[in-house]
Amino acid sequence: MASTIAASALGGKTALVTGSTSGIGLGLARALAAAGANILFNGFGDTAEIAQLQKDTAEEFGVKTAYHNADMSKPAEIEAMIAYAGEQFGGIDVLVNNAGIQYVANIEDFPVEKWDAIIAINLSSAFHTSRLVLPRMRANNWGRIINLASAHGLVGSAQKSAYVAAKHGLIGLTKVGALETAQTNITVNAICPGFVLTPLVQKQVDARAAKDGISNDAAKKALLADKQPSGEFVTPEELGALAVFLCSDAAKQVRGVAWNVDGGWVAQ
Ligand code: NAD
Repeated sequence: MASTIAASALGGKTALVTGSTSGIGLGLARALAAAGANILFNGFGDTAEIAQLQKDTAEEFGVKTAYHNADMSKPAEIEAMIAYAGEQFGGIDVLVNNAGIQYVANIEDFPVEKWDAIIAINLSSAFHTSRLVLPRMRANNWGRIINLASAHGLVGSAQKSAYVAAKHGLIGLTKVGALETAQTNITVNAICPGFVLTPLVQKQVDARAAKDGISNDAAKKALLADKQPSGEFVTPEELGALAVFLCSDAAKQVRGVAWNVDGGWVAQ
């Protein structure tokens, strides 16, 4: 797929990838930079490491990069980040709502503050970024919004109430965004990964290893065996290739989909 899309396909465009200091977001940011987009990074982490990430991406792909540390649970900080994007790049053409967190517990034990944080970061932040970038996309009559949902946007799993609710909500937001922009050159879609071995999932592997008294490798296999028929993790690079495709002209009638990349998880 990537080979059919020229490295300059997104030349002159700017992508904001929320939560791009790690994991999937970083993979998506690199894929969009490889396709020529300038990148506004966001997320938490070590200041020097983030500065290096920005520098490396800019040098490797010949694009401009910047970083904003907005906490995606805080609407005022999201507004400040979009204003910063305007100053640095003129605005956002490709919005990837990727920042997300997980917490695992039965509903009756679920801490209220964890519920609120997951809904704010995994769902409400995508509403705030979208409402703030859409006016410019409409003025330019071009834009791409990609929401990183999950297989958990399509099916449930026990002990993940807030995450599953937020991801189902994100797919709902995707559909409405797609309908409201259907007669423009703006598209809104969701990507629904199965398990990707990032820090977010490594925590679940560690918990499984501790609970069952098994090795890290055995815990990874057990996690996959529960849900993902391929028995293999999805990679950030595979998700990046799909994001670049969704940004291409070939995908301009792909609107409001929730595209699972999940090793067969939701086919069961
Ligand atoms: P990760 O923990 O590796 O990365 C999460 C990123 O979000 C980091 O950059 C982190 O700094 C940032 N972040 C967290 N809270 C933030 C906040 N309040 N404000 C700003 N940034 C914040 O996780 P990941 O696995 O790469 O997950 C990325 C997205 O993909 C999430 O939305 C997640 O739900 C989704 N997803 C992950 C998997 C998986 O298996 N890893 C599967 C399906 C969907």
